[in-house]
Amino acid sequence: MSDLAVWEQALSSAGNWYRALPPAIRAELDGLLEEIMQLKRTLVELVTSSGSSAICRSCGGECCLLGRYHVSVLDILAYLKTGVDPVVPNFFASPACPYADFSGCTMPPGYRPVTCVIFNCQLIEDRLTAIERHTLYAHESRLRTTVARAGRMHDIRIDRPLLLSCS
Ligand code: SF4
Ligand code: SF4
Repeated sequence: MSDLAVWEQALSSAGNWYRALPPAIRAELDGLLEEIMQLKRTLVELVTSSGSSAICRSCGGECCLLGRYHVSVLDILAYLKTGVDPVVPNFFASPACPYADFSGCTMPPGYRPVTCVIFNCQLIEDRLTAIERHTLYAHESRLRTTVARAGRMHDIRIDRPLLLSCS
């Protein structure tokens, strides 16, 4: 099966699973998804306000070359919850990330995979003050905890990669 066919099957399964959730569980999950999206936005804002964009542009997105499996079921549920069309991958872009185009990541900060919003290379870390680093780590820890909670709250692991979720 092609990557795109696997993606579409996994997308459909995630949607069916989400829509069939008992109302109380779905409401709890929606609350966690909201919190996760806000934490992701905050983490991205923290590093971009330190001037990371210019550095990442000149680097060319070195750390985005392994993004294929970064999108999780949970990340896709954020699109479903907000009624936004999910990211459209380009699996022919290899070795570039399937979720990027010539101008960078096509996923808005609140929808980006956890791995992507948590990782900062040394160049970026070096731009942060001690206070900024402390704030970043505190938010990262909250994000990990919230994702772990959401990932295990019902009958399947939804914090696993979307492309591996049907295998
Ligand atoms: S975080 Fe570092 S490795 Fe990744 S794109 Fe930015 S500068 Fe490059
Ligand atoms: S999803 Fe976006 S941030 Fe993550 S590796 Fe791909 S292009 Fe980079």
